[in-house]
Amino acid sequence: MTTPVLDHWVDGKAWPGESTRTAPVFDPALGTPQREVRLASTADVGAAVAAAAAALPQWRDSSIATRSRFLLTFRELLNARRDELAQILTAEHGKVLSDAAGEIARGLEVVEFALAMPQLAKGDYSQNVSTGVDVYTVREPVGVVGIISPFNFPAMVPLWFFPLAIAAGNTVVLKPSEKDPSAANWLAELAVEAGLPPGVLNVVHGDKEAVDALLTHPDVAAISFVGSTPIARYVYATAAAAGKRVQALGGAKNHMLVLPDADLDLAADAAVNAGFGSAGERCMAVSVLLAVDSIADELVAKIAERMAGLRTGDGRRGCDMGPLITREHRDKVAGYLDVATADGAEIVVDGRTATFDGAAEGFWLGPTLIDKVSTASAVYRDEIFGPVLSVVRVAGFEPGVDLINASPYGNGVAIFTNDGGAAREFQRQVSVGMIGINVPIPVPVAYHSFGGHKASMFGDAKAYGANGFAFFTQEKAITSRWLDPSHGGINLGFPQNS
Ligand code: NAD
Repeated sequence: MTTPVLDHWVDGKAWPGESTRTAPVFDPALGTPQREVRLASTADVGAAVAAAAAALPQWRDSSIATRSRFLLTFRELLNARRDELAQILTAEHGKVLSDAAGEIARGLEVVEFALAMPQLAKGDYSQNVSTGVDVYTVREPVGVVGIISPFNFPAMVPLWFFPLAIAAGNTVVLKPSEKDPSAANWLAELAVEAGLPPGVLNVVHGDKEAVDALLTHPDVAAISFVGSTPIARYVYATAAAAGKRVQALGGAKNHMLVLPDADLDLAADAAVNAGFGSAGERCMAVSVLLAVDSIADELVAKIAERMAGLRTGDGRRGCDMGPLITREHRDKVAGYLDVATADGAEIVVDGRTATFDGAAEGFWLGPTLIDKVSTASAVYRDEIFGPVLSVVRVAGFEPGVDLINASPYGNGVAIFTNDGGAAREFQRQVSVGMIGINVPIPVPVAYHSFGGHKASMFGDAKAYGANGFAFFTQEKAITSRWLDPSHGGINLGFPQNS
C-alpha cells in the first residue's frame, strides 16, 4: 500500500511543489505514521507567495460587503463541520475529542470577531483642523502575510490570524507545523468552499527551509509566528532584519499561586484541568503550582486524589488525556522525572507507571505530580510541555510574586485567593501578559488580545482582538485642502490660520 502524501494548498488547489522531501505524520495514539507531508523548498514557498501576491490586488480592492459575506459563510461552514475537524485534530495531535472541540470553539470566536471588521477598519476624520483643512486616516492591508504555527493548536492558532488578515484585505501564506499539518489544508479548502478566491489563503508545508524562505521573501510584508521561545526569537530577528513587521509569540512556564485563604477544592480542580488538559501541551498550561507552606500538604493531597480519576488514552475513546505528540517528545518529558529525583524532589504521582486505554505503541505518559521542586532544578526552569505539574512551596504572597517575576517567561499566571486586595496587588505587581484571578487559564476572549511578556513574546502586537487587526493594517493620514468657492476660490487654509 502506498503512503498518502499531503500536498501544499496553493492558488485554491492541492499542489505537490517541486521538492521531493517529505516527513512522516503520526497518529500519536497509535504510534504509527499515517501519511507523509511534503516539505517545501525555497522555490515552492516562492510559488505560494507569488500566488498570494497575484491574488492581492483584487482581494485588497474587494468591498467590505464581499469580505464580510465570505467570513459569515466561512463561520457557518466551520461551525457545521466542526466534528470533522475535531477528528483530524485528534488523529494527528492526539488531544482528546473534547479538547479538540474546545480548540475549534476558540478559533470560531476569532472568525466571529473578524466579522467586526467594518467597525475596526473605520478611520477617523477631523474636520477644519485649520480653516478649510481636514485630516483623516484610513487603514489599509499590509500585503502578503506569512503565518507560521506550532503543533499544539493546529486549527486554533492559524484561526487566530488568517481570518483577521483576510478580513483586512491581505492575502496569506500559512506554514503550519509539519507534525500535524492536515487541519490547515482542511481549513483552506473550506475557505474556498465559502467563496474565498484562489490565492487569498495558501498553505505550504515544511520545516526550517520553508520558514526561512517566508521570513526573507521580499514580497512578504508581515510575519505572525507562534512556537517555542528560541524559534520565536530567531523569527523575530530574521524577519525584522528583512524589513517586515513581526509578531512572534514564544514559550511559557506558567505559575499558579495558591494563597491560604483560597478555596482549595476550586484550586485543586483548576490545577488538574490546567496542568493536564491537552496533556499539558498548551502554552497556557499551568506547569508550576506555588503553594503557600501552610496549605501545601492539603492542596497536594487534593490534587493527587483528583488525578487518580483521570483516564489517559486514545482521544477517540472518551478519555481525559491523550498521548504526547511524538515519541521523542514523550521521552524528553519523561526524562524530567529522573531529573526531579536526582534534584531531591518528591514524585507524588508518577505518569510512567500509569495504565493507558490505547495502542501499546502510543506516545503515552500519564499525569505526573512532583512536589518540593527546587527552583534551581531544570524541572522548574525549563518549559517541559507535557503532563507534569511541579509544586514549589513558598512562604507567602511576596516570595511567590518574586518567583513569577524572576521567570524569563511571562505568558500566563493565576492566583487563587478570596482576598480582593491580594488579587489586586498581584495583578499590579506581576510582569505577565495574561492574568487569571481564580481562573487557571486566562486566555482572553477574541475581542481582547492574546500575548505574553518577556521571552513569551517578541514584538509589540498581540494576537487577535483590536491589536491583531491593527497588525494586519497600516494607517494612512491624509491632510486635505479644497478651494472654497464661497471665498471666490481663495483657500483660507493653513498658511494664514495655522
Ligand atoms: P516550534 O518552535 O518547534 O515550532 C513552531 C513552528 O516553527 C513550526 O511551524 C516549525 O515547523 C517551525 N520551526 C521549528 N524549528 C524551526 C527552526 N529551527 N527554524 C525555523 N522554523 C522552525 O514549536 P512547537 O514545538 O511546534 O510548539 C510548541 C511551542 O509553542 C511551545 O514552546 C509553546 O509554549 C509554544 N506556543 C506558544 C503559544 C503562545 O501563544 N505564546 C501558543 C502555542 C504554542
